[in-house]
Amino acid sequence: MNLIDTHFHLDFYRDHKNWYEYINQHQQYTLCVTNTPGIYYSCKRMYPETKYLKFALGYNPQNIVSENFDKRLFNHLVGGVKYIGEVGLDFTGKLKDKQKEQIQCFDYICASASNNQVLSVHSKKAEETVLTILKKNKVKKAILHWYSGDLQTLNELLDCGYYFSVNSNMLNSQHGQTIIRSIPLEKILVESDGPFTKVNSNKYNPSKLQDVYAQLEQVLNNSIINEIIWDNFSTLLK
Ligand SMILES: [Zn+2]
Repeated sequence: MNLIDTHFHLDFYRDHKNWYEYINQHQQYTLCVTNTPGIYYSCKRMYPETKYLKFALGYNPQNIVSENFDKRLFNHLVGGVKYIGEVGLDFTGKLKDKQKEQIQCFDYICASASNNQVLSVHSKKAEETVLTILKKNKVKKAILHWYSGDLQTLNELLDCGYYFSVNSNMLNSQHGQTIIRSIPLEKILVESDGPFTKVNSNKYNPSKLQDVYAQLEQVLNNSIINEIIWDNFSTLLK
């Protein structure tokens, strides 16, 4: 069964061309998120999407301090995409000063999303507000990426039917493992968030995806994790 990575930043690798080819050769289904509509646009011009590699149209909340949300380009592109991400909120550090602007953007993005588009959502220190905005806009298909909030909000997100993508850094932290064990098996997905994670102390690249799966199998003591993830992602896309 093919492995699936639901959150990967191809454009952050200097050797992105090699990894693009690697992903296709190894038939690893990979959702490449982008941090701005402009980056999505360039990625799509540079690389054809394939059966295995897709791009998501995004606006990462961490970009709020450096680059305004290009609403015009987003509006132009959003009708033609299946995946939206990386989007969301981040209330850590100096990003906290831009809460209002972030909320405006994320609310706008969620309002623009249709029922069959899948969102990959960042929620660092802003989990409850993320939940409120997803609910308010009746977002149907969302994957909470690298969730690090409390278990009560996690349960409320589960009540809405949302999924959670987990990565190797979570697998290597105590709180991360607690979160992973609190997610029902049918709501769990795997992400790399490469290059922002490490596998066995080395920066992630797509040749390590199988190691992330192996670690998850160990933590959950379950030997058919790849089949479960396959089923979960198929259900989400239906
Ligand atoms: Zn990311």
